[in-house]
Amino acid sequence: MAGFIFVRKFIMSNFSNQQQALKSSITKGAIIGAGIIGLIIAGLAYWLLGSQGSLIRSGGAVLAGLGIAALVYKKTMASGAAGAKCAKCSTAFSVSRSDRQEILVKSQTKEERKTLDNGDIEITSWLEELYDVDDTYRCSNCSDLSHKTYQTSRKRNEETQVQSLTDKKFGTASKGNRKSKSSSKNNDI
Ligand SMILES: [Zn+2]
Repeated sequence: MAGFIFVRKFIMSNFSNQQQALKSSITKGAIIGAGIIGLIIAGLAYWLLGSQGSLIRSGGAVLAGLGIAALVYKKTMASGAAGAKCAKCSTAFSVSRSDRQEILVKSQTKEERKTLDNGDIEITSWLEELYDVDDTYRCSNCSDLSHKTYQTSRKRNEETQVQSLTDKKFGTASKGNRKSKSSSKNNDI
């Protein structure tokens, strides 16, 4: 009887639903990351083995892809697990973000000018906002709170205009329409 209880307890996960959910989301991210990088490496290996026979070529690509994917999965899971482990109570997969606060520090209009092949000038302007971010992380087991603060910037209201040299007028985004018109004018001069 005691043995049965022990085995049962051992097999059953000791994780709470919250821990299980956090573990699943970390696992999902690791699988997607490993899959993408594995595919890229497999493609690269296939290309590099171009001079080999088709069996070696595809076999090598599969092996390289799987090998790298396994490595990426292991590394991502390890760092994800380390990040989700509570520093205070040491519970695994218990720490996740519970709140985010952003404070606008500064907002600035920025502009970038680029000369196009036909001499027109493409002007891209946007509003760049700088935020102070404060992320709150909470342990689902002991409710310990920790913070992570950093700054982030965001582009807003990005707009592209094309200034034509010939008529000095501002047109919106469509480069194509004006292109033929202005270049033919240039030829006349
Ligand atoms: Zn904790």
